[in-house]
Amino acid sequence: MARVLIAGAGPAGLCAASVLAEAGIAVTVLEAEPRLPENLRASTFQPPTLDLLARFGADRRLIEMGRIAARVQYRDRAGWVAEFDFGVLAGQTAHPYRVQCEQFRLNQVLAARLPEVRYGAAVDGVAQDESSVSVTLDSGETLQGDWLIGADGAKSRVREALGIRLEGFTWPERFLVASTPFDFSAVFPNLSDVSYFADPQQWFFLLRVRELWRVMFPTRPDESEAEIGSDAGIQARLQRIHPAAYEIRHRTLYSVHQRVAERYRNGRVFLVGDAAHLNNPLGGMGMNGGIHDAFNLADRLVSVIRGERPPDDLDAYERQRRPIALEYVNTISAANKRNLETRDPQEQRRWREELSRTAADPAAARAYVERISMITSLKKASLLLLLMLVLPAALLAQTFPARQVTVVVPYSPGSTSDLLPRAIAPLLSQSLGFPVIVENRPGAGGNVGAALVAKGESSGHTLLMAPSAILATNQWLYKELGYDPQKDLTPVTNAATTPNMMVVHPSLGAANLAELIALAKAKPGSLSFASGGNGTTSHLCGELLKTTAGLDMVHVPYKGPAPAAQDLLAGRVPLMCDNFSNVISHVRAGRLKAIALTAMKRHPQAPGVPTANESGLPGFEVSVWYGFAVQSATPRAVVQRLNAEIVKALRNPAVAERLDTLGLAIVGDSPEDFARFVAEESGKMRRLVQASGARVD
Ligand SMILES: Cc1cc2nc3c(=O)[nH]c(=O)nc-3n(C[C@H](O)[C@H](O)[C@H](O)COP(=O)(O)OP(=O)(O)OC[C@H]3O[C@@H](n4cnc5c(N)ncnc54)[C@H](O)[C@@H]3O)c2cc1C
Repeated sequence: MARVLIAGAGPAGLCAASVLAEAGIAVTVLEAEPRLPENLRASTFQPPTLDLLARFGADRRLIEMGRIAARVQYRDRAGWVAEFDFGVLAGQTAHPYRVQCEQFRLNQVLAARLPEVRYGAAVDGVAQDESSVSVTLDSGETLQGDWLIGADGAKSRVREALGIRLEGFTWPERFLVASTPFDFSAVFPNLSDVSYFADPQQWFFLLRVRELWRVMFPTRPDESEAEIGSDAGIQARLQRIHPAAYEIRHRTLYSVHQRVAERYRNGRVFLVGDAAHLNNPLGGMGMNGGIHDAFNLADRLVSVIRGERPPDDLDAYERQRRPIALEYVNTISAANKRNLETRDPQEQRRWREELSRTAADPAAARAYVERISMITSLKKASLLLLLMLVLPAALLAQTFPARQVTVVVPYSPGSTSDLLPRAIAPLLSQSLGFPVIVENRPGAGGNVGAALVAKGESSGHTLLMAPSAILATNQWLYKELGYDPQKDLTPVTNAATTPNMMVVHPSLGAANLAELIALAKAKPGSLSFASGGNGTTSHLCGELLKTTAGLDMVHVPYKGPAPAAQDLLAGRVPLMCDNFSNVISHVRAGRLKAIALTAMKRHPQAPGVPTANESGLPGFEVSVWYGFAVQSATPRAVVQRLNAEIVKALRNPAVAERLDTLGLAIVGDSPEDFARFVAEESGKMRRLVQASGARVD
C-alpha cells in the first residue's frame, strides 16, 4: 500500500495528511517539536479555506472556538472608512465571512483525527529513487514512503535537502504583534473585526480573536529587539492608537519575507505552505495559501495513487500554485503594505479615493472582496490549468521544463550510448535552464532502462537514450521486452549514427571482401565470426553476410564488444563486423585489417575503406544509430522543444568535434523524420532477425 510521509505538523502538513487519511491512504506526519506548538501566528481563515476545511467539519470547530468576521474596513485616523462586506460572496461560498481563530486550534483539531503523528521526529535527510523516498530523522532513524510532502515551514529542511532556493527578499523592518483584551470597538465607532489603519506615522492593523484584539505594527530597522518588545515600547505604540491602560497578553516580533521557492517539486518530493512561499501577512496568503496548496496537492496524490490520474498530473500542482504565490508576493501583499505606509499625500488621497469608489460600486466591491478572500486566486488557478489544456502548443512548451531533466541511458557507463548524452548534457542544462543529468540503468540488453522510461512519467522530464537496439531490434529478439517501442515511446531525434565495419585479423590473409568470401566458400563451416552477443548488430551483420553471400560460418558470441575485440586482436577468432567507432583505432594501428564498411557511403574518417555495397554486395547496410525518445504521452510541444534543444546542442562545434572522435556522424532530424526512419529500420531489423534465427530469451 502506498505511504505518504509528511514533514511538519503545521496547518499545511496536517491538511494534506487529513485529505490523504480521509481517502484511506497511509500517511505518517513527522513533527520536530515534542508536541503541537501553541504560539500565536495566523488567525484569519478565508472563505474558500473554510469551504475546504468543511470536508472534515473543521470549519464548524473553528467557528465555535473563534469569531465570525463579516466585514473588513480600511480606515485612517481622520475618520475615513471604506468598508467591504463578505456577505456579497453568498452563493459563491458556503462561508461568506472570515473566521478569526488562532491557527494552532486548527492544528489541534486536525491532528486529533489522524492515525499517526510522530512528535519529536525532526526530518534531517531526504533521499529518493524512481519508486520511493526515504527520510532520515535527527535520531538517525530512517523511514520509507512513496511520496514526501515537505510542510516543515519557513526554514524547511526538506527544501534545503533538495537544494531548492527560496527566491526573493526579506523586509528590513520587522513586525510586532501584541494582543490585548482592550476593546477597540469602544473607541472606534462601528469598528469591524478586521481593520487596516493607514497612517503616515505608523500604520497598524487591528484584528479581533474571540476575547482578544491583536494589533500589528511595523517597526523601524534601527530599533533593537529589546526596545520593540519591552512593555514600554509596546505601550508607547498602543498609546498612539488610543490613550489607555493596556494589558498585554502576548507579544511576537517577526521578520517578514517575500520569497517563493524556485520549484515546488523534485521527483517524489513536494513543498507546501511556508516551505514553498513566505510573504507578509497583509496579503493573507500565509496560512491560507498553505492550506490551499495542501488540498490541491493531496487531492492529486489521492487520484494518482488510486490510478485514476496519470502520475504527471502531479506536475499541475506547481503549475497552479506557484504563479499564485508569485502574484501575491510580488504584487498584492507588497502593494497593501505600500498603500498603508505611504507618506506621500497625493498617493494617500489616490488610494483612499479608489477604495471609497470601489466600496460604493457593488460590482467593483464584489470583485474586490473576491480578491482579498483569495477566491479570485483559486479561480485563476483552475483557469490556468484549463488554459494549459487548450493553450497553443508553443505556449505549453514555454512552461517546460519545470525541474531537472534526466536522460536514462539503458547501458553501462563508457558505451557510446553513454558518452553521447554526456557530451550534450551541459549545453542542454544551459539552454533548458534546469540541470540535465545522465543516469545509467543497464540490464536485459537495454530493456530495463527503456521500460523505465516507457512506463514512466510523460512530462518530458525523463528522456531515453534510445539506440537502434531499443527502438528497432530488441522487439524481434526478446520474448518479453517490458515495453512496446511503438506504443510507449515517441522518437525525439536521431542524434547520430555510425556504420559497422567488417574487420579481420591480419593473419587471415584476406585483403578485401571478395577474398574473404572466397576464403569462407573454400572451407565451409570453418570460418568463425565474433559478436558482442546474441542479437547485437555485430551478430546480425555476420548473419546478413552469411545469407547475402551464401556462406557457412560459425557465430561466436561474447559478453559485449570488448571481450570479442580482445579475442579478435589475439587472433583466436578471425572476423567481426562491429561498430566503426569500436574498431577504427585498431585498424589505424595495424592490429586489424578493414575489409568493408557496411554503409552506402564511405566514412570520412576512413576514406580508403570501400563499402560492402561497392564490393559486390549491393544494398548491404548495417549501422547503429543513437536516438532520443520520451514516453509516448508527452505533449507534442514538449517533444518539439526537446528536439530543438538537442539538435542545437549537437551542432555546437565542441560537441561535433567530440562526436567525430567517437566516429559518429551527426543526424539531428525532426521527430517526424525520426519516427519514419524508426519504422523503416524496425521492418528491416525484423527481416534480418528472422533470417538470422537469432533469439534472446
Ligand atoms: C509570528 C508569526 C505570525 C504570523 N502571523 C500571520 C498572520 O497574521 N496571518 C497569516 O496569514 N500568516 C501569519 N503567519 C504565517 C503563518 O503562520 C504561516 O504561513 C503558517 O503557519 C504556514 O503553515 P505551514 O504548515 O506551512 O508551516 P508551519 O505552521 O510553520 O508548520 C511547520 C511545522 O513543521 C515543523 N518542522 C520544522 N522543521 C521540521 C523538520 N525538520 N522535521 C519535522 N518537522 C519540522 C515545525 O515545528 C512546525 O510545526 C505568521 C507567522 C509567524 C511566525
